[in-house]
Amino acid sequence: MAAIGRVLRSGQFILGPEVEAFEREVAAYLGVKHAIGVNSGTDALVIALRALGVGPGDEVITTPFTFFATAEAISMVGATPVFVDIDPSTFNINPELIEPALSSRTRAILPVHLYGQAADMDPILEIARKHGLKVLEDVAQAFGGEYKGRKLGTLGDAGAFSFFPSKNLGAYGDGGLIATNDDQVAELARMLRAHGARKKYYNEMPGYNSRLDALQAAILRVKLPHVDAWNEARRRVARTYNELLKDVPGVVIPCEAPYAKHVYHQYTVRIPEGRRDEVQRRLAEMGIGTMVYYPVPLHRLPVYGYPEGTFPEAERAAREVLSLPMWPGMKSDTQQKIWEAILYAINS
Ligand SMILES: *Cc1c(COP(=O)(O)O)cnc(C)c1O
Repeated sequence: MAAIGRVLRSGQFILGPEVEAFEREVAAYLGVKHAIGVNSGTDALVIALRALGVGPGDEVITTPFTFFATAEAISMVGATPVFVDIDPSTFNINPELIEPALSSRTRAILPVHLYGQAADMDPILEIARKHGLKVLEDVAQAFGGEYKGRKLGTLGDAGAFSFFPSKNLGAYGDGGLIATNDDQVAELARMLRAHGARKKYYNEMPGYNSRLDALQAAILRVKLPHVDAWNEARRRVARTYNELLKDVPGVVIPCEAPYAKHVYHQYTVRIPEGRRDEVQRRLAEMGIGTMVYYPVPLHRLPVYGYPEGTFPEAERAAREVLSLPMWPGMKSDTQQKIWEAILYAINS
């Protein structure tokens, strides 16, 4: 309330000192040179792609098992998303499938750190170096997550973050951010978020109206110092779920890759053998809300329209995944009740 009052009294509602302070604090947290606050995670992806030089005619390699915004951003800058299948153990892009998907038009790779877990970045960065490609990380679900001890969003040429209210660091409205160590990318991104102008009314290119609100920045500044503790609390909740569910037949618990510090934006199990929807329905009847992220892999949406069977692991994941209730302060007896309900739903 004090932070909100401070902004209301200042009369400065868009960008300004509050946003600048937030950008400095996030840059310090991530250990990155530049942080640029924007309107949303989607805009962070769009603006970062343009700042990296991706445009019409280009192809960008990405995963089909993600939120629509990842591929949508590629399409919105005039490029074409080229999907490759996922690694079934992590749900993230399978680096081994990237090289066969490259063409003379490939400009960038856009890995997503899905559910809060790092994609396997070393082989991705190696392929990018070898072929002169840019790497943009979609960190919307993984604020504070790590790959081999390094903060996600700082490994590629740029990282795109979302502060949608339900994300691990959530605002009280829309918000997003671009992180980069590249001075030129940062300068372009700053211009693009403000109508392509370095100086007001001296517009140099068509850009966007995509600035972070001071109110959101002020709220995020209050929350940022807590995010590590909240992520640790999520990891504790995940460990308790793992203990409860590891020997339950018909449930496959998530696997944490050795290179990843998973921050469990979602705790997502698999319910194989065509039973997922019925288990979800039974849990709902017992008052337990679960979600399917995502029921349709992007290549199967009519906008992209690849035939069924193109990416079998993404399609299987879409049929099997179920995200259980997850929040930092969740009590273990709540988890115990969910475990009992899952046993009942699976066995009835
Ligand atoms: C939430 C999300 C986005 C988009 O972020 P918004 O702030 O809602 O625009 C992009 N990619 C992924 C993987 C997301 O989960």
